[in-house]
Amino acid sequence: MLPSPEHARFRPTVAPRTVDLPGSPDVIVIGAGAAGIAAARRLIERGLSVAVLEARDRVGGRAVTTRLRGHAVDLGAHWLHAGPINPLVALGRSRGEPLRRAAQEQHLWVGRRPGRADEDAAFSRAFDIADRAITHAASRTQDGPAARALPRHLGPWGERVALVHGLVSGRPLDEVSLHDWPSLEYGDNYFIAGGYGAYLARLARELPIRLGCPVTALDWSGSGVRARLADGGDFDGGDFHSGVLAARAAIVTVPVPVLQAAFRFDPPLPEPTRAAIDGFLPGIYEHVVLHWPSAPFRGRDRLASVVGGRHKPPGMLTRIDDTPFHYFELDAAVARALDSAGAGPDGARRFARAVLAEHFGRGALADLAIPAVTAWRHDPWSRGSWAVVPPGHAAARATLQEPVGERIWFAGEANSRAQWGTAGGAYEEGLRAAEHVADTLSSTARPPSL
Ligand SMILES: Cc1cc2nc3c(=O)[nH]c(=O)nc-3n(C[C@H](O)[C@H](O)[C@H](O)COP(=O)(O)OP(=O)(O)OC[C@H]3O[C@@H](n4cnc5c(N)ncnc54)[C@H](O)[C@@H]3O)c2cc1C
Repeated sequence: MLPSPEHARFRPTVAPRTVDLPGSPDVIVIGAGAAGIAAARRLIERGLSVAVLEARDRVGGRAVTTRLRGHAVDLGAHWLHAGPINPLVALGRSRGEPLRRAAQEQHLWVGRRPGRADEDAAFSRAFDIADRAITHAASRTQDGPAARALPRHLGPWGERVALVHGLVSGRPLDEVSLHDWPSLEYGDNYFIAGGYGAYLARLARELPIRLGCPVTALDWSGSGVRARLADGGDFDGGDFHSGVLAARAAIVTVPVPVLQAAFRFDPPLPEPTRAAIDGFLPGIYEHVVLHWPSAPFRGRDRLASVVGGRHKPPGMLTRIDDTPFHYFELDAAVARALDSAGAGPDGARRFARAVLAEHFGRGALADLAIPAVTAWRHDPWSRGSWAVVPPGHAAARATLQEPVGERIWFAGEANSRAQWGTAGGAYEEGLRAAEHVADTLSSTARPPSL
């Protein structure tokens, strides 16, 4: 078992208020992140009884909001991407949630000065050219590394474009499938006041969720499924005896790197499903959370590109929700380098300070504090930030959408093609799996033993 990373000690702003599990559920949902919450809500709407088993002592998975210096700060997902197709945007609107559209304006910082208008224009142009080229190549050529489709004539901005796409992809573009890459409409993004994690925790209220309940194995040898708990502990009532809970079907929302490393299926999964799971790579994207009141960036929720120095931070989000908080993002390359040096969270803090000092001068950092550094890649319940499809593996998401034995469904961000790597995609996939399960179970009789 991996030791708990630093981010796991921060408490969520919205504490779970859940209800007891039914003694004999129709469906077990494993994991209470975006996908598990969506699945449980939809299954209950469809009249089925549900038991959600969650390893952590909180809900939300890779979306969690904590309170730092009086402000709500997300330590995982923060953007509601792809507004027109994100079900959490539509649901948020119908609930009157405090959504706001993300700013289109960005900051450009070149060396030790703000970027000029002509530099800004050249940077945007390079992005547009690269986007068109990759999208075109994806529709015309065989799969391969997405990096292959980056045009060579992007000039000085080419390196920056590759760095940003590598950051948001979760791996450098030579490790990302061309056929999987251009699948998310990044425009029309939203934020939610109070944080994305807090929003998901509100959606989980009154759901039948058992926290602190890791599942180690799923037995599907009989007619239904049996989830085996890590500690083998007993729970009162129903079928929850000797650390085993039985149901007619299961929706598994456990992140794929956890399925790869620390989860068993008895009997083993069919080969195509196993190969789909095993082929994903863990995407790496981490927040170094800055509290920096005097930062030179003005305007709420703006991305900042800092270029032209020895260190090139792949991305920043500044003045989050109009507070003195900013994210300094770590990509896979930097995180790997810090890990190989055994640097830990304080090493990430030193790194962020060194980069900022190079561009803004040490004097500008007098009021900088770094209250949190995430390490989702080392978190035993995520082992990465999202799942990345490497070249040649583009069919994996569709394979994972297929049920196994009419009683195991997978859901989660890894399944989503159109909203890959996102909480919105995970939620969509949770709804999709729940609909399939409800349709399937309504057409088959409940066996007498359940
Ligand atoms: C730093 C960071 C920033 C991000 N930024 C964004 C963003 O801005 N916008 C966006 O949309 N997405 C973002 N993402 C990605 C987003 O957080 C995920 O895609 C999404 O939350 C995944 O939801 P999920 O339900 O598939 O998985 P998870 O949220 O990981 O939920 C799975 C649940 O299963 C539980 N679990 C794991 N193993 C077991 C087990 N054995 N037994 C029982 N339970 C188990 C976990 O504890 C977890 O609660 C970001 C991620 C990170 C790490």
